[in-house]
Amino acid sequence: MPSAQPWEAAGKPVQRPVSECAGPPASTAPQLAGAQGGGGRGAALTARRVQRPASLSLWQPLKIFACSQLGSLVRRAALLRDAPDHLHKYEKSHNFKVHTFRGPHWCEYCANFMWGLIAQGVKCSDCGLNVHKQCCRLVPTDCQPDPRRLPKVFGCDLTALVKAHRGRLPMVVEMCIGEIEARGLKSEGLYRVSGVSDLVEEVRTAFDKEGEKADISAKAYEDVNVITGALKLYFRELPTPLVTYQAYPHFVEAAKVSDPAERLEQLRRALQTLPPAHYDTLHCLMAHLHRVSQQEKHNLMSSENLSIVFGPTLMRPHEQDVLATLNGMRHQRLLVELLIRHVQELF
Ligand SMILES: [Zn+2]
Ligand SMILES: [Zn+2]
Repeated sequence: MPSAQPWEAAGKPVQRPVSECAGPPASTAPQLAGAQGGGGRGAALTARRVQRPASLSLWQPLKIFACSQLGSLVRRAALLRDAPDHLHKYEKSHNFKVHTFRGPHWCEYCANFMWGLIAQGVKCSDCGLNVHKQCCRLVPTDCQPDPRRLPKVFGCDLTALVKAHRGRLPMVVEMCIGEIEARGLKSEGLYRVSGVSDLVEEVRTAFDKEGEKADISAKAYEDVNVITGALKLYFRELPTPLVTYQAYPHFVEAAKVSDPAERLEQLRRALQTLPPAHYDTLHCLMAHLHRVSQQEKHNLMSSENLSIVFGPTLMRPHEQDVLATLNGMRHQRLLVELLIRHVQELF
């Protein structure tokens, strides 16, 4: 805790973070203030503890929770202040779940006390924000996830991962594309040939455990197909596909248009319905696949071949029945092929 907390001034009435905050009765202020102090105040505290041990032991946990509460407010304020500009672009909703708080807690939105013994409020499982149930609808969509709270890298929501690591793109995408391009893009059947699955799993574990420190160099994995395999696996395991379920119908509508110019225009509009982190990642991937297709005479991978590999990996309907899946595959291939071919005009 920084030393300048209001309640550290011994003997003064305790000031809580916001004036209307319904905290403990004011009569507890001297104990709180004393408990926080050191040195001489510590001696006074000992004296008081002898006189009124019961009330002190009651408010001791309160003080600890109050400190952690204020600490989290200070942390959030600092996070928002220090965030680079592009982070503000990636809005992310909180992932609230009903929570039973142990000890007293204040709502981090309205700063009022959270009453009750169980299920007093909700907690965001991504950033740890604690608010009243009635306040959770009012909180801005500014969740800044804590990497320690998120599931591993693979299978984690794309926007949550990018925001947690304070980047623009998921590190798996940036690092794998960087590594594959550094090796020259000329390997025959790039993205079509599968890498040894045990090694692909090893790369996935390395990202899950070490994040951006994972070693995917040619020294660690000689076969480039292991790296392409890991990248494909990353997209397959996204809980929300790169082309999100919400955006997918707009893409399919574009695929159904027969006039080529009108189709591209519709596709451009469909792209605008993607969340910004998804849009930027798709742009990066399509620009990369465009460069792969430019080496077609070496790697034999045309944009059409690449679209067969990537179509179902990047998009799928929310509800899957056999007919929708079959029709979907046709659209997915066409869409990915168009995205690769026309990347410069579309993004
Ligand atoms: Zn959150
Ligand atoms: Zn509240």
